Order: sequence, then structure tokens, then C-alpha cells
Amino acid sequence: MLILLSDAFDPGLPGKLKKFGEVTDNKTRVPEAEVILIRSKTKVTKEYIDGAPNLKLVIRGGVGLDNVDLVYAKEKGITVHNTAAASSIAVAELAFTLMISITNHLAKADKSMHAGKWLKKELKRTELYLKTLGIIGMGRIGTELAKRSIAFGMKVVAYDPYVKSSDFADLKPTMKDVFKISDYVSLHLPLTEETKGLINSETLKDFKDGAYLINTGRGKTIVEEDVAEALKSGKLKAFGNDVWYSDPPENTVLIDAPNVTMLPHLGASTNENLLRIGNIIEELIADYVK
Ligand code: NAD
Repeated sequence: MLILLSDAFDPGLPGKLKKFGEVTDNKTRVPEAEVILIRSKTKVTKEYIDGAPNLKLVIRGGVGLDNVDLVYAKEKGITVHNTAAASSIAVAELAFTLMISITNHLAKADKSMHAGKWLKKELKRTELYLKTLGIIGMGRIGTELAKRSIAFGMKVVAYDPYVKSSDFADLKPTMKDVFKISDYVSLHLPLTEETKGLINSETLKDFKDGAYLINTGRGKTIVEEDVAEALKSGKLKAFGNDVWYSDPPENTVLIDAPNVTMLPHLGASTNENLLRIGNIIEELIADYVK
């Protein structure tokens, strides 16, 4: 059995998988591979699947499966798994980091110090304490973020039409109910037909003036042009973003928009998460072999 590591994983993973067969990271060997391990970079499209006649199992280290043609994989009898629970803490901590960072101007302050400027008067911080956080998508990551925000004395509300109750957020019946009272809005959505472009010029009208937006879900759930306009007009005070239309982004208008903190899709990239992902992959392959 040939196991192909098509994206970046914990360096110890090939050693753990050797007991199941040959392990390679040579992408030219896709046609021979029975198991392919991916993260977000490899796109398992119809064409990719057609070029992999021996493929039986795809494991996506991480959560989002929007880079896999699930319908065609099923048609071809290929099993697809993710490692859904592994990344929740890593991404929730990053969303929280962005929330603190944009509120306290960390990126701007650091850049200005490196440029020899002293912006003590200009940079006014804001506290998270007693502010309202609105979470859109109250799943695993949204829940972990809610727990951390409650510890900081924030009030947490959320919108998720598929979640009926939560111990950590006051669930609201509509997105508008969340937007109109939230000082911070954090997106934790999968990319689906329903969530594509969800944050746009119309929905932004429902936000509080001067709200903060954070996105560690999927880039295409926002309309970048509309978010950039909202930042220019001051409707949004700042935007903390980890996810893009493509990795890396090409010609994003957010580069020139004010008060944006941009990260290169780091949500899942903790050493601990990569180890957890590796352990789950080992279990999934052991089950497959059985
Ligand atoms: P999850 O499935 O536990 O939670 C997603 C939630 O979104 C679900 O509860 C679902 O009901 C809800 N949802 C779906 N459609 C909705 C809609 N239209 N409106 C409101 N809520 C809706 O998944 P998770 O583990 O919390 O991950 C969430 C997303 O985070 C993933 O789908 C992935 O896109 C993204 N992610 C990003 C990174 C990163 O590196 N930045 C890493 C892992 C995951």
C-alpha cells in the first residue's frame, strides 16, 4: 500500500505510518497511491481523482472539506475522512488572538516601533471586558472561542440555525439579532452554498457602527470588496483575517484597506494540533487496514 503525504504534516508522521506500507511525499506518485493525506493546499478535484486510479482513502488533516469533490469521490468508492475535532483549540486560540490583537493595535504598534515612531497618543486601546461577542457558526471552534471569551468577562451571543442549545452562548434566532448587538463578530463557518458571501454590503448594514470582524473560518464567506469599503467608511473599526479566497491571496483588496491584520492561514498550525492530527490519521489508517 502506498501512502502519499501531499501536504505538510507533523515531521514524525511518516515514521508512524511506515508500519502500514510505503510512505512518500512525492506527488508524481498520485497514480499509485491508495491513501492520500491532504490539508488545505491539495485540491482533490474530479481531474485529480481521475488521475488516481488506485485511490481508496483520502484523509484531510483538518476540518474544511471544501477542497475535496465529495460527490465524485463517493461515486468512485473513495472514502473521505477529516480530523474534525483536532483543530478546535488551535483555531479558537487564534481567533481570540486576533480579537485581542486588533483591539490593542498590536500589529500597528509593533510596525511603528520598528519604524522609529512613538504612537503612544494615537493608539487608543479598548477592553474586551463587558463587550459582546457574536459568533456565527456555533460548532466546535465557536464553542471553544465562547469559553475563552467568557473567561475575559465578555457576553457571548451566537447564530447557528443547526444548533439548538449551547451552554456557552445565548443563541439568537437570526443573524441580524447577533449583528445589531455585537461589538465583535467572529466567523466560524464552513464554506457552503449557504455561507458563500454571507458577509456583504447588505448584511454589514446590520452591524453596530465601529464593530470588529474576525474571520478564521473560510475566506469566501465574506465579500472582500464590501468588507474593505466598511473598513474605509469606519462601519467596521478593524478586521482580523486568517483565511482567503486562495492560499496565498491574489490581488486581494484587503491589502490596501485600513485596520486589517492579515495572517497566512495559521489557524491549524500549532505543533500540538499537527501531533493530534497525526494521531487521528494513524487511527483512521489502522481502521482502514483492518
Ligand atoms: P463545526 O462543523 O463544528 O462548526 C461549524 C458550524 O457552522 C456548525 O455548527 C454549523 O451548524 C454552522 N453553520 C453551517 N451553516 C451555517 C449558517 N448558514 N449560518 C450559521 N451557522 C452555520 O466546524 P468547526 O470545527 O467549528 O470548524 C468551522 C470552520 O472553521 C470549518 O468548516 C473550516 O472552514 C474552518 N477552519 C479553519 C481553520 C483555519 O486554519 N483557519 C482550521 C480549521 C477549520
